[in-house]
Amino acid sequence: MANVAVFGVTGRMGRCLVRALRESEDLALSGALASAGSATLGRDAGDVAEAGPVGVTVTADRTRALEGADVLVDFTLPSATVANLGAAAARGVPAVIGTTGLDAAQQEAVRAFSRQLPVLIAPNMSLGVNLMFSLVARSAAALGDAYDIEILEAHHRNKVDAPSGTALRLGEIAAGARGVTLADAGIHARAGNTGPRPRGGIGFAVLRGGDIVGEHRVLFAAAGETFEIAHRATDRMTFAYGALTAARWLLGRPPGLYGMADVLGLE
Ligand code: NAP
Repeated sequence: MANVAVFGVTGRMGRCLVRALRESEDLALSGALASAGSATLGRDAGDVAEAGPVGVTVTADRTRALEGADVLVDFTLPSATVANLGAAAARGVPAVIGTTGLDAAQQEAVRAFSRQLPVLIAPNMSLGVNLMFSLVARSAAALGDAYDIEILEAHHRNKVDAPSGTALRLGEIAAGARGVTLADAGIHARAGNTGPRPRGGIGFAVLRGGDIVGEHRVLFAAAGETFEIAHRATDRMTFAYGALTAARWLLGRPPGLYGMADVLGLE
C-alpha cells in the first residue's frame, strides 16, 4: 500500500481524490491539506468529501500533511503549488500536479524542483484528453495553415483561469506541429472591428457557466470543410482516477519532469 497526501483536499478535485482513494486497493490517503483560512481544518477529510471517515485530519501544515507520504497529489492554486512543491522537495516526496494556470515563473520553479525529485504535471489527467493532444498534433501537422484552428473550451462558473490549461496545451501542441509558438500565433480576444482573420492564427473561445465539468473542441476550418476533435468530461472522477494512475506510475521514478503522455506511453 502506498500513501498519498492530497493538497487542496477540500476542493472539487480534492474531494474526488478522497473518494477515489477510498475505492483504491493499493493507495491510501495519508495527509490532507487545505488553506490556513479553511473552515474544514481539524475535520476528517473523508467526512469533508462525504465519503465517510478515513482517519486523516485536514490541516494547513504542509509538513504534517506530508508525514508518511510516498507521493503528493496537488490540486490547489498556482500561488500555493510552488510552496507545496518546495515542502515535497524538502522531504523527497514525488509530486503529481494537476493545478492549472501557472505563469512562466511558476512553471520554471516546477522545472527547477524536478531536477531534485520526480514531478508529473498535467493540465488534464483524463485519458481521452491526452489522446486528443496526440490527434491534434497529427492533424495540425498534416493539414497546414490553410486550415484555420479555433479552440473552444467550456467550464463551470467557478473556474478562475482562462483559457483552461488544457486549451492552452492544445494551442501549444497545434502551434508546435506547425513550427510556430503559441505566443506568436495565439488570438485570445476578438471584439469590434477585428479585420480579417490572420493566416496561421490559433483562436481561443472561452465559455463559463453552471456546473460544466470540462469541454474542449479543436476546430480546423478550411474553404469547403470543417474538421473537429472534441472531448467532453462528464464527471470529475475521471481526473481523479487519472491523477492516481499518474501517482502509481511516478513511484520509484528518477528525478525529472513528466507528463501524462509518459504514463500512457503516447508520443
Ligand atoms: P477548488 O474547488 O477551488 O479547490 C481548491 C483547493 O485548494 C481547496 O481545497 C483549497 O482549500 C485549496 N487551497 C487554496 N489555496 C491554498 C493554499 N494556499 N494552501 C493549501 N491549499 C489551498 O478548485 P478545483 O476545481 O478542485 O481545482 C483545483 C485546480 O485543479 C485548479 O487549478 C483547476 O484548474 C485544476 N484542475 C485540473 C484538472 C486536471 O486534470 N489536471 C482537472 C480539474 C481541475 P480551502 O478549503 O482552504 O479553500
